[in-house]
Amino acid sequence: MNLILMGLPGAGKGTQAEKINEKYKIPHISTGDMFRLAIKEGTALGQKAKAFMDQGALVPDEVTIGIVQERLSMTDCKNGFLLDGFPRTIAQAEALKQLLANMDEKIDNVIHVDVPEEKLMERLTGRRVCPTCGRTYHVVYNPPKKDGICDKDGTTLIQREDDTADTVKNRLAVNIDQMQPLLNFYTEEGTLVTIDGDQEITDVFKDIQKQLDN
Ligand SMILES: [Zn+2]
Repeated sequence: MNLILMGLPGAGKGTQAEKINEKYKIPHISTGDMFRLAIKEGTALGQKAKAFMDQGALVPDEVTIGIVQERLSMTDCKNGFLLDGFPRTIAQAEALKQLLANMDEKIDNVIHVDVPEEKLMERLTGRRVCPTCGRTYHVVYNPPKKDGICDKDGTTLIQREDDTADTVKNRLAVNIDQMQPLLNFYTEEGTLVTIDGDQEITDVFKDIQKQLDN
């Protein structure tokens, strides 16, 4: 089963990826992990990628796609894989399609964990963190016992710059712009499955299972 997982920040993709990995025994392949592995193993492409990253430059598509190809050729992918964070562009999606075709494979399903933007705003801007111990809270979903105070050490909780409304709004907008063309692409491919991500974690997974077991 060859899958791609898509969703905006805060949609709960990571949690669902873990569950899919557990249930279907296919590796969860995130772009970051893929790069780290290639660099650690010192493959030619890994070294190329590292050179770009060390300069703070974007890794060009041909290198990224090469790394994806190396990763998908590994034995743990023989029963399938779950890609997360790749493809990010239509060019990458086309390249992925081509490289899978060369391996006599294809993408079976693209799972889009869909959560309305205002819900994502609530999820992401509600985060609070303790500057002393690093423990994280959420004003709605995981509040401290005493408003604004860390349960463990009594420190006043703070909101990270990354979690303020303006920053979150911006980050979501950038991600929506990037993701929408891909959703269109996979709709045309007939592989897109939209899952209501605005439910309990276990219910989201049930819906994913229903689709995949179909
Ligand atoms: Zn604390």
